[in-house]
Amino acid sequence: MKIQNYMEDVVQDELDELLTERDNVCKCTKCKLDMMVWALNRLPAKYVITDRGRLYTKLKEQEVQFKADVVKELTKAIDFVCKNPQH
Ligand SMILES: [Zn+2]
Repeated sequence: MKIQNYMEDVVQDELDELLTERDNVCKCTKCKLDMMVWALNRLPAKYVITDRGRLYTKLKEQEVQFKADVVKELTKAIDFVCKNPQH
């Protein structure tokens, strides 16, 4: 068993969802990782114990409580990375 920051899974999934709605945004791996890091550094960590893979679907109900915050920070992250691309 190991611990995992469940917030990482949520941020990754939400970012993919948000980016499908945006056209004028670079979606390369570097920019997506920059967006994830930017948002994750501003969101609280949610550590869970896992024995295999992702727990995202299992914890979907809890997700609702902080999903609004995730979307808010990710929107800011996308705007920031767009204006300051690292490549
Ligand atoms: Zn890029």
